[in-house]
Amino acid sequence: MAGVNASASMAIVVLGPAAIDTARHIQARFPEARVHGLANRVSADIAYDDFGAHVRELYRADVPIVALCSAGIVIRALAACLIDKEAEPPVLAVAQDGSAVVPLIGGMSGVNVLAREIGIALDVAPAITTSGELRFGQCLLAPPEGYALADIEQGKRFVSDLLAGATTRIEGRAPWLDDAALPRADDARLAVRITPLVANDADSLVIHPRCVLAWIGNASSGENIAERVRLAMRERGLSPLALAALTAPVRDMASPSLDDAARALNVPLRFCDAAPFDASDVQGIALHVGDAPVDVQSTGRARGTLTVIGLGPGSAELMTPAARAALGAAQDVLGYETYVRMAGPFRDEQRVHMTDNREELQRARHAFELASEGRRVVVVSSGDPGVFAMAAAVLEALDEGRAAHPEWSTVKLAIVPGVSASLATAARAGAPLGHDFCVLSLSDNLKPWSVIEKRIAHAGEADLVMAFYNPLSKARPWQFDRAMEIVKRFRDSKTPVVLGRDIGRPAETLRVVTLGELKSELVDMRTMVIVGSSTTRVVGDWVYTPRWYE
Ligand code: SAH
Repeated sequence: MAGVNASASMAIVVLGPAAIDTARHIQARFPEARVHGLANRVSADIAYDDFGAHVRELYRADVPIVALCSAGIVIRALAACLIDKEAEPPVLAVAQDGSAVVPLIGGMSGVNVLAREIGIALDVAPAITTSGELRFGQCLLAPPEGYALADIEQGKRFVSDLLAGATTRIEGRAPWLDDAALPRADDARLAVRITPLVANDADSLVIHPRCVLAWIGNASSGENIAERVRLAMRERGLSPLALAALTAPVRDMASPSLDDAARALNVPLRFCDAAPFDASDVQGIALHVGDAPVDVQSTGRARGTLTVIGLGPGSAELMTPAARAALGAAQDVLGYETYVRMAGPFRDEQRVHMTDNREELQRARHAFELASEGRRVVVVSSGDPGVFAMAAAVLEALDEGRAAHPEWSTVKLAIVPGVSASLATAARAGAPLGHDFCVLSLSDNLKPWSVIEKRIAHAGEADLVMAFYNPLSKARPWQFDRAMEIVKRFRDSKTPVVLGRDIGRPAETLRVVTLGELKSELVDMRTMVIVGSSTTRVVGDWVYTPRWYE
C-alpha cells in the first residue's frame, strides 16, 4: 500500500450487525485490520462504547479508519480533531452494504490508495474527489514509504500547474510513477525531482528518498548529536528528510543521548557491530548517501525494549492509552494466559507467549532474552503491574541475572502503570480509600503467614483502611477467616466492607456488607476486599472514608 501509514493497523468500525458482512469482506483483504463494534450491539474483534470518542481516539493514535456508516456521522465525530491537516491518518466512509466507498481525509497518508483497494474488494468504484489524483491516477503528494515530500505547499502549486496544462520531466528514480498518467515531456519546464539534496526551485516537485545513513561512532564524544547530524547534512547540501536512520555501535546501545537524537530527528536508531558503510571518521559523525531508500529493517538491529504494562481491571475503557500503545507496538507479548487474552486481539505477526500464572520469574527472564535480541517485548499484568504483579518480578530477574547476562542491561525498560483492582473497586463503591489506607496481599506463597498476621494487626491498630488482594484460594482455604479474626480485634462489627468481584469485567458484582456479616463464602480469588477504618461510612448506596480525622 504505497503511502499508507503501516505503523498502525487499520480499524474497520461498525455500528450494528447490518455492516458486519461488509466489514469482514474488507478485513479479508487487510488481514491486519481489526473490526471494532459497538458493545452490546454487534460482536466484533474489539468492542467500543461510544462511537465519537472511539474514532477520535483512533484518529489521534494515527490509526487508519474505515467507518461503515454515513460520511456525515464520521465528519461530525472527527470535526474537532481536523485542524492539523499535515498529520492525519486515512479516514473513509463505506456504505454498510458495501455499495459506496468514500475517501474523506488523509490525502497525504494514502486515503485514495486505500479507497481503491477497498473498491476492488467490494467491486465498486471509489468516490475519489481529488482532482490531481483523478487526472494522473496517482497522488503525487503522497509518495510511498522510503520517500518524503519536501514541501507540501510547493507540491500543491505544482499539481495545480499540471492540472492547468503544464508538462513535466522526471529527474531521478521514481519507480512508483512509472504507471502514472503524467503529462510528460523531456523538455518540460517543470520537473519531479527525486533527490536527497535540498532543492529550492519553484519549478520542481521535490521528493527526497530516505537514502542517507548517519553513523555515530562515539555517542559520548560531545553533546547534541541531532544538531551535529543536521549540520553535517547541511554542509553536504542534504535535506534532513533524506535521513533514513541513525546507526551506532552496539556498545552504545544504552546511550540516552542517541535515543534523544533519534527522537529529535524522527528517525529509527539501529545498532551495528561495525559501521554499515566505510566510515572514515569513525570517531565523529559519518554520513553515507545511497542511491535508493535504505532498507532500515535489514540495517543492524534495534535496541530491544521491555515494557511492563498494567491492563487495568478488565474493561477496555479502564486501560490507559499508554498501555494500549505499548500493546500496539509490541512484537512479543508475554503473560498469564487470562491476561494475554484480555490484552488481545493481536496481529498475525505479533508473537504471543502464554504461561502459567506461577512462572513469573521464568517469564521475566524470557522477556529479557527476547528484548536482548532487539525485539519489542511487552509483559502484561492485570491492574497495575507494580501491585503484586510482573514489574517487581522483572526487576528481580534483572537484579539476579544481569551479572551473567550483561546484555540485559542494554534493554530499554519501561513500566506503564494501570488502574489497580483496589482503586477500580473503590471507585465503584464511592471513596472508601478517601483517607489513609494500605494494601495487603493475603497470599502466603511468597511470604510467611506470620508476617501477614503481624501486618494486619499493625494496620488494624493504626486504623488504616485495608485493601486485601488475593483474599482466598483453594490452596489457602483458612487464611481469610483467620485474617478477619485479627481485623475484628480492632474494628467494630458494623464497619463497612466492600467486596468487588470481577470489577470492570462482564461478570462484575459489587457488594457492601458489615464486618460482622463478612464470611469467606462471599470471597474468592477474583474478589477485592476493602475493610473500612473507624470513620468509614455508608451514605445511600455509597461507601466513603472522610478526609478528616480527629
Ligand atoms: N496487579 C493487580 C493485582 C494482582 S493480584 C492489580 O493491580 O489489580 C490478584 C488479585 O487482585 C485478585 O486475587 C483479586 O483480589 C484482585 N483483582 C484483580 N482484578 C480484579 C478485578 N477485576 N476485580 C476484583 N478484584 C480483582
